[in-house]
Amino acid sequence: MIDQNHAAALTAILGDKGIVTGGGDVASYQTGARYDEGRAAIVLRPQTTKEVSAAVSYCVRNGIAVIPQSGNTGLVSGSTPDLTGAQAVLSLDRMTKRFDLDLNNRSLRADAGFRLSDVNQKLEKHRLFFPIDLGADPRLGGMLATNTGGSRFLKYGDVRRNTLGIKVVLADEEGTILDLTSDLRKNNTGIDWKQVFIGTSGAFGIITECVVNLEPLPKQVATAYLVPASGAHVMPLLRAMEDRLGAYLSAFEGISKNAVTAALDHVPSLKNPFQGGNVPDYVILAEISRTWEPREGEQSLDAVLEAVLAEIWESDAAPLADAFVGPAHEMWSLRHALSEGVKHSGKLIAFDLSFRRGDIMAFCDRMKADMPQAFPEVTICDFGHIGDGGVHFNLVVPKDSASASDADFERRLRDWVFAIAVQDFNGSFSAEHAIGRKNQAYYDLYTQQKIKDMAQGLKVITSPGDLGAVRFG
Ligand SMILES: Cc1cc2nc3c(=O)[nH]c(=O)nc-3n(C[C@H](O)[C@H](O)[C@H](O)COP(=O)(O)OP(=O)(O)OC[C@H]3O[C@@H](n4cnc5c(N)ncnc54)[C@H](O)[C@@H]3O)c2cc1C
Repeated sequence: MIDQNHAAALTAILGDKGIVTGGGDVASYQTGARYDEGRAAIVLRPQTTKEVSAAVSYCVRNGIAVIPQSGNTGLVSGSTPDLTGAQAVLSLDRMTKRFDLDLNNRSLRADAGFRLSDVNQKLEKHRLFFPIDLGADPRLGGMLATNTGGSRFLKYGDVRRNTLGIKVVLADEEGTILDLTSDLRKNNTGIDWKQVFIGTSGAFGIITECVVNLEPLPKQVATAYLVPASGAHVMPLLRAMEDRLGAYLSAFEGISKNAVTAALDHVPSLKNPFQGGNVPDYVILAEISRTWEPREGEQSLDAVLEAVLAEIWESDAAPLADAFVGPAHEMWSLRHALSEGVKHSGKLIAFDLSFRRGDIMAFCDRMKADMPQAFPEVTICDFGHIGDGGVHFNLVVPKDSASASDADFERRLRDWVFAIAVQDFNGSFSAEHAIGRKNQAYYDLYTQQKIKDMAQGLKVITSPGDLGAVRFG
């Protein structure tokens, strides 16, 4: 708990509604989406950038550590306080006022506390959307701080690619406000400073406002579950679709049988899309989309997809064993239930890896071959955005096993998987979830010392105060 004098001073800055000091109201701010249960000294809930600045300045001058929090859906223990009870959580959940749409520029300038679902709901009548899609409902600030990827990265890229500008509060004694809110898509006038704050988990500053690119909302969508002839046929299948569909292809998601089964078990209302209910060993959720309403005389998008699949089916390479075309909302409901399904199927030890696209299936094959000997209790429930090289490599240990609560077991398992992913396959140990306490040790292990030194230099000139859960230096 925080000293009463500090609580009173912060209340004077933020008002009664701007702080939470105890009781049940604190629980949601100190409990993470998947792993964490920390203890907050106090929760700060500013409404404006100026309030963030004043609160942060007070905290820095009084040696109070601050953890920025937006939607609290992060998966690497970055948004919640540790167990010391000494860290303040600064939540953006009241920063939802400014929402300025520029239709000509196809951009949005908004406070960083808006949830993704609210942003897209407000944009729908303008036939636009913020094109980052995932199975959670984060807030803009957290999306920028983690550089969220998601299921449509293949077509639209990540948050970084869709950010034009940001406003940031630095954790220095003044709580300096850094205005980098450009509306420009092209601006080569020096260092692109916003990149220091995007994807760096709040270590260098708190993002309070942003300008983001919007895209025309797709009006036609067609989806199919595709069964590749074998693991080796997955990339030829992707390339065949890219070759024939170009920018129409908006998702290419790989899903293992174990992940599908976990989701179907956890959410019985989900429709099993496979013939006879028989889930294949590995399936691809492919989506194609276009931004205009169906036109008279034009082939429907479902027909386009079916024609392309027929061509691929008959091609010499024959990468396709089966295909199930179906309604997009049903197919995506299953895809978006995977994460929760896997979480409830046992003790989950999750990895967010990325590889050159051609290495993904080889990595998965290596794991399937070696895991039974190395860690016999572990079940692999992988799925991922394999069109952009990402794999959510989820490992599940039975809840009643002693290993499920054995921290040393988890560390050995993580060390082993990361060593193979990073050293043998030149992959990344954090594809799109960024860095948090959960993977700090691997950042330390796999990052060149010179890069850590450069990051420490940036830390000193931006936010010398105790900010965020991560150390890059
Ligand atoms: C079911 C599920 C599915 C998911 N699927 C995906 C997926 O497909 N792709 C993907 O990339 N991620 C995915 N995630 C992870 C998560 O949703 C993203 O990382 C998300 O963008 C985090 O945003 P948030 O608002 O919840 O941030 P938070 O969880 O609140 O914070 C995340 C990090 O950013 C820092 N931070 C928060 N706000 C700010 C701010 N304003 N300024 C500076 N730093 C800040 C925090 O300190 C923390 O380190 C998924 C999560 C869940 C639960």
